[in-house]
Amino acid sequence: MSYEPTIERLPNFLRYVNKVYRFSHTIDSMQDRRADTDVSAQTIFMSVFLCLLLRLGSIRQLAKDVDAGKIRKFLPRVDKETYCANTVGNGLENIDTSILQRQLAIVPKKLRRNKAYGSAEHPRTIGGFRIVAVDGTENFRSESICCPECMEVHVKVKDGVKINYVHKIVIMYVVGRLHPSAVQVILGAEPTYPKDVISGEESGHEGESTAAKRLVGNMIALYGNGFFDILTTDAYYSTKPFVLFLDSLGKYLVSRVKDARTTLYKEIETLSCMVEPIYVDDRENRVESLIYEIPELHAVLDWDVPTRGFKIIEKTYNIVSGEKVYIKEETFLCMATLPGELADADIVRQIVHAKWGVENNAIKDLKDNWYMEHNFHHHPNATYALLLILFMAHNLFYAYVFRHLKSYRLYQPTMKRIKEDFMSSFLHWKWRMSWTNFDGP
Ligand SMILES: [Zn+2]
Repeated sequence: MSYEPTIERLPNFLRYVNKVYRFSHTIDSMQDRRADTDVSAQTIFMSVFLCLLLRLGSIRQLAKDVDAGKIRKFLPRVDKETYCANTVGNGLENIDTSILQRQLAIVPKKLRRNKAYGSAEHPRTIGGFRIVAVDGTENFRSESICCPECMEVHVKVKDGVKINYVHKIVIMYVVGRLHPSAVQVILGAEPTYPKDVISGEESGHEGESTAAKRLVGNMIALYGNGFFDILTTDAYYSTKPFVLFLDSLGKYLVSRVKDARTTLYKEIETLSCMVEPIYVDDRENRVESLIYEIPELHAVLDWDVPTRGFKIIEKTYNIVSGEKVYIKEETFLCMATLPGELADADIVRQIVHAKWGVENNAIKDLKDNWYMEHNFHHHPNATYALLLILFMAHNLFYAYVFRHLKSYRLYQPTMKRIKEDFMSSFLHWKWRMSWTNFDGP
């Protein structure tokens, strides 16, 4: 037996997400900021959701499928038989993004309630902690078109300097679950804005950490203060202001340290020569590590928050005829404001890895397989709305595959295979799908 494609795949998915995550309520809740529109916000949302879920790749393609009646089969209600790419673009420019953000929160909240992250007695996360990551990323770049929220980036070319127009976003997602197929559920996102132009000064960009601070505040308001204990980040956030900001919220930071010019980096390097390392052999992942831990690093940094520094040397190995054969050696530095009583050095090492070096990294997946950097429709509200709908499609797709699809557990088909199955079901399904039986058992 092997994985069997089915024409029912897309209706099955929609039935599941409706039953478990009340998806028809999500559709119903959508609103357009204009008083009067030809095509409702519900129809625009559902059309774009299908476009992103099925990775159609462009709104033009979506409009063609609308024209051919393919989308209509999966709409709960049809307010207009056909509509064009412009209608979808205008709808996205006016859709209420605060509703999209609230609806995006439904899957992560439900997974938490359903103990997808384990319980206090049986944690399914590293050290039993609730860990989230933030990451800033460019979500698209244009050489010609710009909007009021574009940031200008100067790029060196053969004959001088060229301006590129860029949008950046900071994303928060769940990490640290121990199961190999764990979904890195996206919790929310916040755009990075160009700074206000002050007269006489050049316009600039606000820093990624300014957007990240807004995001952390918004996420606590949306999910509740207990939703996470630890934030893990790349080296960009290993700064005193960011550590103080998180500490004021009662949260811990675990992050990498990379910039050799900073006092933080130099102190970890110098002090690591004075401590004895601990040795850990992680047999399951075939990694040996030597960890030099520097307690009370904050004293030399003049930070007011207890901080530990770590220098970690990792050796990856294979077992050949009962002997270890080393494949690769890597050295990196990191820091944690998490106290030693709560997490030993090896837990810190694992938390750093929860975001970095994992195969199913959410942002890499979104870029490689979900067209995240594609310019579907360039406009401040539309760009942000598209990302939020994309994250919903991503979360629901993986929730369906990992938590519902029996044939995935049995036969482990690739994601590409399942994606193709969705597409073929979309193309060949001949009937209008019934949404009336959705709330059934
Ligand atoms: Zn723009």
